[in-house]
Amino acid sequence: MANTRTIITRLKREALESTTYRGHQMARWKRWTPFNYVTHCIACPAEVQVLSDPAPNQIDIGGSAVALNCPIN
Ligand SMILES: [Zn+2]
Repeated sequence: MANTRTIITRLKREALESTTYRGHQMARWKRWTPFNYVTHCIACPAEVQVLSDPAPNQIDIGGSAVALNCPIN
């Protein structure tokens, strides 16, 4: 099984691909826990978080920045 760092690195990359496609300009990642990183768009209020070990009712990449286009860019 892949380790937490490998999973987080992959999820961050996938999250940034998605948010960039939607026109967001994301800030640096903030680490809440070793399993949970978040970042936000510097142009609008959109956010995205990644979870390396999501609970059954959670998703590994989630947030408004992957669901909505940036209204600014
Ligand atoms: Zn944005």
